[in-house]
Amino acid sequence: MSPRSTFSIARRVCATVVISFLAGASVSAGSRPASLRGRDTEVTLAMEPAAGRPDPLRLDIRVRDLAGLTGDSLRRAELAATYVLSGVGIDAVWVLCTPDHEEPRCADPGGPTHVFVSIVAKPTEGAFRSRPRALAIAAVAEGAQGSRVYIVYERVEALARESPEVGASVLLGYVVAHEIGHLLLGSHSHSATGIMQARWFKRELHQVATGGLLFTPSEHIRLHAALLARIQQDGAR
Ligand SMILES: [Zn+2]
Repeated sequence: MSPRSTFSIARRVCATVVISFLAGASVSAGSRPASLRGRDTEVTLAMEPAAGRPDPLRLDIRVRDLAGLTGDSLRRAELAATYVLSGVGIDAVWVLCTPDHEEPRCADPGGPTHVFVSIVAKPTEGAFRSRPRALAIAAVAEGAQGSRVYIVYERVEALARESPEVGASVLLGYVVAHEIGHLLLGSHSHSATGIMQARWFKRELHQVATGGLLFTPSEHIRLHAALLARIQQDGAR
């Protein structure tokens, strides 16, 4: 029996929908990744860009925590998400928006290079009720506004409990990176390998713990091109 079939609660990472929305939210400055600690394992991350690679492209991620996560949990999620995205040449600037930490950037409706991530404790959105195994939903924006990601934290925690190696906060960061992959690659962008797989099993959780669940080389090229197009669109507004 394969490892996949013995893993009890494989969950679908996400569903992608296309909607129009009104943007808004709040913020604090992000910083560069250095290391990640899974439940039992610390993974040191090499963040130096390889020689000859193009300069990283900036993507603003504005995170609204509605699940009451600790600062440490949010920091671990940030480290994980920025680590994965840095591997495909994306300089993700993670800005935390909370009701008691308003910044002008949080109220800004954003543009093509902005992603708004809402972390909710339970599946309050109707879209989640009809997708009981989805951890997250990526809402691909129409027009020039920033795109949105919604993540149900209790479902992320449930998946993390399936592995002794992975903490929920690190897994949350990988889910954020997966959803940003959808926003840039399009709604039919699940893959047979890497972080864009639709379902994560024990093997993928081990890869999360060891820093190995990443975008494929092909996705790297397409992500870079898609974000570059958004940056050019943003500059043309
Ligand atoms: Zn997905």
